[in-house]
Amino acid sequence: MLQESRATEPVCRAKATRNTHQKETVWRVFSAMRNHPTAEMVCDEVAKADPKIGRATVYRILNSYVSSGTAIKVPVYDGADRYDITVMPHSHAKCRICGSVLDVSTSGVLPAVKEENGFIIEGGAVLYYGKCRECSK
Ligand SMILES: [Zn+2]
Ligand SMILES: [Zn+2]
Repeated sequence: MLQESRATEPVCRAKATRNTHQKETVWRVFSAMRNHPTAEMVCDEVAKADPKIGRATVYRILNSYVSSGTAIKVPVYDGADRYDITVMPHSHAKCRICGSVLDVSTSGVLPAVKEENGFIIEGGAVLYYGKCRECSK
């Protein structure tokens, strides 16, 4: 019995170390990307850092950031959701030419009436569209 637990211990430790390494790598890559990346964009960068980390693992780790409140998921009207390291409420602008997503500091996104049909509005975000600096040149 004792021998058995000794035998499995290094395996468990190796697995835990691998998980920690994967999480650290994904975080390092994701937190350096300030362009509201899609999961696929994070996958591509993670693959450069460590090709052994699979796409499913990257998706799983990204979603764990969202559920723990470390990152937010930004839905855009056409295309894949974006991941954002800035978790405080803010709005976004999407370039309709190159698809880049930028932060916009806006006030007054909330309507004057905070309750309608029994629904209490607590927050909101707006997705603007237009042309980014590069595409306006
Ligand atoms: Zn653009
Ligand atoms: Zn943002």
